Amino acid sequence: MERTATGQEELYRRLPSVNELLLTPDVEKLIGIYGRDRVVAAIRENLVAMREKISCGEISAEALEGEICSISDEVSRGLQRGPEYSLKPVINATGVILHTNLGRAPLSEAALAHIAEVARDYCNLEFDLESGERSKRDVHAERLVLRVLGIADGDVTRWGAVVVNNCAAATFLALNALAEKREVVVSRGELVEIGGGFRIPEILEKSGAILREVGTTNRTRAADYEHAVNEQTALLLRVHQSNFSIEGFVERPSLKGMVELAKTLGVPLFEDQGTGLVSRIDGVGLDDQPTLRESIETGVDLVAASGDKLLGGPQCGLLIGRADLIAKVRKNPLLRTFRVDKLTYAALEATLLECLTGQTDALPLMRMLRVDAEEIERRCHALADATRSENLSATVIPVESVVGGGTAPNARLKSYAVSIRHRRLGANELLKKLRLFDPPIVGRIAEDMVVLDLRTVPVHHDETVARALEQL
Ligand SMILES: *Cc1c(COP(=O)(O)O)cnc(C)c1O
Repeated sequence: MERTATGQEELYRRLPSVNELLLTPDVEKLIGIYGRDRVVAAIRENLVAMREKISCGEISAEALEGEICSISDEVSRGLQRGPEYSLKPVINATGVILHTNLGRAPLSEAALAHIAEVARDYCNLEFDLESGERSKRDVHAERLVLRVLGIADGDVTRWGAVVVNNCAAATFLALNALAEKREVVVSRGELVEIGGGFRIPEILEKSGAILREVGTTNRTRAADYEHAVNEQTALLLRVHQSNFSIEGFVERPSLKGMVELAKTLGVPLFEDQGTGLVSRIDGVGLDDQPTLRESIETGVDLVAASGDKLLGGPQCGLLIGRADLIAKVRKNPLLRTFRVDKLTYAALEATLLECLTGQTDALPLMRMLRVDAEEIERRCHALADATRSENLSATVIPVESVVGGGTAPNARLKSYAVSIRHRRLGANELLKKLRLFDPPIVGRIAEDMVVLDLRTVPVHHDETVARALEQL
């Protein structure tokens, strides 16, 4: 023990001081380029890393000598690279389109451009250009949201929309604004957990509303709601069963049935629709998914949806509904705590405009949903052919992509993937090497092989993936 400690002492002693290094000609040159502060910070970082290696007993005297000699090169490389961000773009080769861990929907070019122009300068976030007076930020997306949902001219006398941080916040806010200390009737089949700790019964309780559960897990009928409604009832709540499905002996009223029931009982119907799917998209396995247009056309009083699921926009939550209900939501002080920033409005506005002008293929989400399996297969073959080597076997296999993000649990999209195996590296090691590539590539393992589904990889990154595989 003692000898090791002395050895370490000796190594620590060999480390140069920051001041010594600052006097060397190479470092002086760097100061000329990057300024003294940045160079000092970079040197300190390098010295700290060396100290750590010494304290872990990870470095020999010779290796340390080498690192000390090349410290100015290392510092120079670090300064050239710029800061190492924690948040960085990754290549999603999992085939999960709305991957929550990977940031859900990528944004369109128009959304990115609009964010940049709005953020680079000042903007009219809460300023009315006509009158020159202060205004509210929630006017920005409102008319556009309504028009996208088929409400003529975005009529704000009968309808309204507000934007908050996410759908969970939208649901919470609506419950608090419309049902605090009063009862909300929900089917036991819809008391769901969405993921990330969003559980309907808990959200309801925290919002101050009182849960009135009716029916059973598999069957709930109109009569169950009727029996539960009393003078304390504030809302009927319908929740989209986003991430699971039950089959067999199941029953629940149709959306139309619920709307009629709510009208008869004189209680507003609030729907947590979740996915934000605007209208039907054919041939991508989403045929059984409820759409926002359907909700509004059928007569739901208030609906909550996510911005970064099937709408294909930024993370946010939309509350859309009857003008009088939205007015109550606007008066609630919680709206201030859940409000979104100008970047979100910019991205949302651009996304909605693309939905409205029918340019849905401009949204990366739509492109990924609709791309032909044959097209993906062709790209997979090109990638496999380009990277196959003595060490790497690469074959093309049929797979199924999924929509993900807690939407459409049964939707499967026919796709293709490159399945790779390395002569020496196991699948887990291979997967890790790809994750640590720059930019990181995220794949998955199936039957001991690393599988890269190209549906979720933008075409221009095929080459990047090829480069990563060649380096293995
Ligand atoms: C996804 C989802 C939510 C949560 O949405 P976030 O935008 O992630 O907060 C809530 N309700 C339903 C039905 C959902 O599908």
